[in-house]
Amino acid sequence: MVRIGLGHDTHRLGAGEVLLIGGIRIPHDKTAIGHSDADVLLHAITDALLGAAALGDIGEMFPDSDPANEGRDSADMLRAAHARVEAAGWRLVNLDCVIFAQRPKILPHRQKIRERIAEILGVDVAAIWLKAKTGEHVGPIGEEFAIGAECVVLVEQARAK
Ligand code: MG
Repeated sequence: MVRIGLGHDTHRLGAGEVLLIGGIRIPHDKTAIGHSDADVLLHAITDALLGAAALGDIGEMFPDSDPANEGRDSADMLRAAHARVEAAGWRLVNLDCVIFAQRPKILPHRQKIRERIAEILGVDVAAIWLKAKTGEHVGPIGEEFAIGAECVVLVEQARAK
């Protein structure tokens, strides 16, 4: 049996020096604002994985009302969600993501981001794909008020050991 999951996330942008995307720190003149470390891509992946296994969502697993989640490393959240999904008998097949950002250009960072996500999840880098779209200079993405990300993930029932 296979199942799919979908994740989406948005963060506001403010003045800053570094943008964290997919666990990679990209020098930029804006930063994403959020309760955790505001890694929009890892949040979308986390929600997609939990959704595929019908195991809740990132907000339920890591409520922003809990002080322990303030400034939290999104890689830790993704690892914990992935562990929960695996414990329920599911194995990640592949995931595909879109980042919505007017700037910076994501392509020069794509390979590093893929490798970092593969490392966090303990899967082959070939299972991770990523692309980016601008907002065509209109709307909250295009006017650089926000950054967004979407992810679809496929999981399959892990073989009995
Ligand atoms: Mg988020």
